[in-house]
Amino acid sequence: VASSKPVVKTDLAGQTLVTLRTLTEENPASLETYLKLGGYAALKRVVTEKVKPTDIITEVKTSGLRGRGGAGFPTGLKWSFMPRYFDGVKYLVCNTDEGEPGTFKDRDIIRYNPHQLIEGMAIAAYTLGARVGYNYIHGEIWQDYEIFEAALHEAKAAGYLGENLFGTNFSFDLYAVHGYGAYICGEETALIESIEGKKGQPRFKPPFPASYGVFGKPTNVNNTESYTSIPWIMQNGGQAFADLGVPNSGGTKLFSISGHVEKPGNYEVNMGMPFTELLALAGGIWKGRQLKAVIPGGPSTAVMPASAIMGATMDYDGLSKARSSLGAGSMIVMDDTTCMVKALHRLAYFFYEESCGQCTPCREGTGWVYRVIDRIVKGQGKMEDLDLLTDVSNNIAGRTICALGEAAATPVLSFIKHFRPEFEYYIQHGKSMVDGK
Ligand code: NAD
Ligand code: SF4
Repeated sequence: VASSKPVVKTDLAGQTLVTLRTLTEENPASLETYLKLGGYAALKRVVTEKVKPTDIITEVKTSGLRGRGGAGFPTGLKWSFMPRYFDGVKYLVCNTDEGEPGTFKDRDIIRYNPHQLIEGMAIAAYTLGARVGYNYIHGEIWQDYEIFEAALHEAKAAGYLGENLFGTNFSFDLYAVHGYGAYICGEETALIESIEGKKGQPRFKPPFPASYGVFGKPTNVNNTESYTSIPWIMQNGGQAFADLGVPNSGGTKLFSISGHVEKPGNYEVNMGMPFTELLALAGGIWKGRQLKAVIPGGPSTAVMPASAIMGATMDYDGLSKARSSLGAGSMIVMDDTTCMVKALHRLAYFFYEESCGQCTPCREGTGWVYRVIDRIVKGQGKMEDLDLLTDVSNNIAGRTICALGEAAATPVLSFIKHFRPEFEYYIQHGKSMVDGK
């Protein structure tokens, strides 16, 4: 793949490379590199040895792999929801439509290790009886989309995709679908609508995609990082994957670390790593400043003040004990020069802008929240605005078709809960307590 010439990380110390394992090589995205590392061997084995789909699902359950798009739903359990004795068409979909601020892990997978994703999807297709798959890629990602397309051509030419793979009756075609950059198309049912050529708006769930997905057919949707973990699991065993992590959070996790750190970027580490160690991998807080707050998994996860995250471990239970969540592992780090009112202003604009407008609480509520915060940052806020913001946010969450409503409410509620004095100061003085402006 010509365009995938390396921008290889030189410092991989402290990381465990499962989904980004080609990063150690010269031309990470090429088929040649992937084959050198044992790529496609797991697919060949399960297909030619006719491994029972139920055994593969058991292995995935043993691995403790949970959905890496943010919800953390157990992958093996999700696979078991796909109807087994169903004669008609079934589809497989990969969600590479990460669009929340701070999310940038899946694009590195398709940029540096596209073949492992293809192999993971092919194993899933074999297991679940899908003949056709789609990888839906976020519209703002161009170069990586092309790298993935090139990898698809390579895989097909080499006999890892297409008709009668390895001389068996298993066939699988995989296509890349390029979105248009709407955040809401990362919601699985909006993504499905978009694949069908319609406006990307979420559907009511249930029915879940496992029973009513693409073109109304049973469809399995997983995140890019989830599928990419599968070949490693099938090569090394589910237990080996589970052992990389901690109970209830098997394997590794890709953390996208952005904000006020010395070395922002993607870091793949064992689940359960203490936050302080992960922060150290990213070079610590930049410019010798102090940590103020962290959004651990993307803005739909609650912001944590430094005191709450310093003792936390980076896994599902560790972060939920510390009253936030792992989400997609999109960690936004803020130093002590950050004005939390202005930070929330920016996030509120994002959710207002990206609401698809189907549900009244989300369409009207996100605009209302944004306008109230906007007047606070313009020095026109009133003290009762803080209760108003809390009230409006509480009335969005849980009253909408999709999780965006909840996601939009979370930053408002958590920012005000943890940093209320900053909001009160801004309203009283018409300027920020932190930067004086
Ligand atoms: P969800 O909990 O409703 O569903 C998770 C997955 O499990 C889905 O695939 C769903 O189809 C399946 N599922 C759940 N219950 C099921 C059942 N009873 N039968 C069959 N299938 C079932 O969560 P969601 O709405 O898909 O995702 C919300 C999450 O997305 C949030 O937690 C957030 O962290 C994350 N998120 C990520 C991004 C990003 O850019 N990566 C952006 C926004 C939100
Ligand atoms: Fe659209 Fe918001 Fe309703 Fe989701 S919650 S369907 S984004 S209006």
